[in-house]
Order: sequence, then structure tokens, then C-alpha cells
Amino acid sequence: MMKTYTGSCHCGTVRFEIDADIDHVRVCDCSICSKRGALIYRVAEGDFRLLTPLQELSVYRWGLFTAADYFCPVCGILPFRKPSQPTAAEREAGIRPFDGWAVNVRCLKDFDPFSVPVRQIHGSRLTIDSP
Ligand SMILES: [Zn+2]
Repeated sequence: MMKTYTGSCHCGTVRFEIDADIDHVRVCDCSICSKRGALIYRVAEGDFRLLTPLQELSVYRWGLFTAADYFCPVCGILPFRKPSQPTAAEREAGIRPFDGWAVNVRCLKDFDPFSVPVRQIHGSRLTIDSP
């Protein structure tokens, strides 16, 4: 069942809401995720509502520069990111583009990340980073 969750960074500068039925979380082994340790759940564009203007966030782009890692400029927490777009070769291999958001479920209020199974994503084996 879809539920509305509110999310924020640590200091509260960044606030957002999602509608989701979170039945798993993702951990990824790519170079940035393995350092960050975030637990990710993906939501469609229409299920994500940003309550803080995006331009008030800091953004980190790396690799192929099609993904955007958004984080709070005050407390440094990453509440969500915009995943990469697949390369032409990856599209041919059947990886479909995803235009939603990858949300760090640790930033959601009233959600226990240990209440759902963890799905391991091997982003390190892809050109794109998966979460
Ligand atoms: Zn903050």
C-alpha cells in the first residue's frame, strides 16, 4: 500500500515527501555508494515532492556526469540522488532509463530500514551507477 513519507537531511534545510510502498531497500557496491553507505529506494518522478528548492542543495556529479548526487550544503547529508542514464551499449543490453529519484530511506521519518529485505546492487560492474 502506498504511504506518504516525509524526509529531511539532518539539519532540516532539505525537506521532501514521497509516496511509496517500500518493500525492499537497495545497497550498491559502486565506488560512491560503498563509501556513503546509504540505503536506497527508487521512486517515480510523480511520487517525489521536493519542499526545498533544488538550487539550495549542493550537487556532486562524477563518472559519466549524467547522475546528480544532491546533498545538504549545511549538514552534508545526501537525502536523494538522480540516477545515471544508461549508455547506448547498456540500452542495447536491455537496461532501461529511469527518470525518477533514488531516495536515501535513512532520511525518511517513521520508516525502519531494517523492516524490509536488502537487495544488493552491483553498480561496480556497470558503467552507470545503479542506485
Ligand atoms: Zn542539512
